[in-house]
Amino acid sequence: QAKSARGNALCFFDPQMQAAINQRALWESELQTALAEEQFTLYYQIQVTADHRIVGAEALLRWRHPQRGLIAPGEFIAVAEDCGLIVPLGLWVLRTACRQLARWQHEPACAGLQLSINVSARQFRQSDFADIVIREIREAGAPAHLLKLELTESLMIDHVDDSIAKMYLLRTQGVRFSVDDFGTGYSSLAYLTRLPLHQLKIDQSFVRNLGVRAGDDAIVQTIIGMARTLELEVIAEGVETEAQREFLGSYGCDLYQGYLFSPPVPLVDLQAMVIKSASTVRA
Ligand code: C2E
Ligand code: MG
Ligand code: MG
Ligand code: MG
Repeated sequence: QAKSARGNALCFFDPQMQAAINQRALWESELQTALAEEQFTLYYQIQVTADHRIVGAEALLRWRHPQRGLIAPGEFIAVAEDCGLIVPLGLWVLRTACRQLARWQHEPACAGLQLSINVSARQFRQSDFADIVIREIREAGAPAHLLKLELTESLMIDHVDDSIAKMYLLRTQGVRFSVDDFGTGYSSLAYLTRLPLHQLKIDQSFVRNLGVRAGDDAIVQTIIGMARTLELEVIAEGVETEAQREFLGSYGCDLYQGYLFSPPVPLVDLQAMVIKSASTVRA
């Protein structure tokens, strides 16, 4: 009987599936090595006002793979989430961002910059997530009010009471929250008002279709109107053209992020941009 059961299992053997499993396992062990050997790095993408003043940046994870070069998160975040490595990886991002914020306080041009980081569901769901963030801020000596955590709608809505509790705890320390990819999830005003949010981030899929698809124009206008009503700041991501920026500006968007201003860049390039921008503003 045991033998026939095993026989049945063998019937399900699929070389393609096995190859996919092997590939996963390889990625997992490579990710583990990458974390141990500090192969990860943060890139920074500026966030600007309508008159091009830099007010902050979003930290975006990159993997400097020894053979394959620079790898964007789209290729490895999902694997890191599945195997749980996103938790230590997310901690590394948080720690690196806090240290950077602390260092910037000694450089006049960078001192007021806000820094946004992306938080994954698995990381946020840890029971001691808020304590970890508070600890990292303290250990780094970072100004809490300059740290912004980007959370997605679905992340906050699953276990909404737990989310609210964690967010309030962090909010009392000064930490700010932005809703990433806004408009792609559940957009219910009812829950938005329950969350201590600071910013809505309009998803780039709507920005891309501005002036192209009338429906998306309406969505963007609605989001900006919603942000006004809730007294939240609104930022657009994925702004690539002057036309998109003009549409957003005419609807009253506060902040902009996208290739039109700069792609994500290494730290030194970000700092050079900020210093240059500060000197032109002064001039
Ligand atoms: P996201 O947070 O929505 O970040 C925006 C993505 O759009 C980034 O891709 C950014 O490089 C890209 N982008 C910026 N401007 C433009 C533009 O003008 N046009 C277009 N087409 N794209 C633009 P990236 O860096 O590949 O990151 C992809 C996603 O990976 C992020 O989406 C975020 O969800 C996730 N991610 C990045 N870093 C981290 C991290 O440290 N932790 C976690 N958990 N997730 C991260
Ligand atoms: Mg983001
Ligand atoms: Mg986003
Ligand atoms: Mg996005």
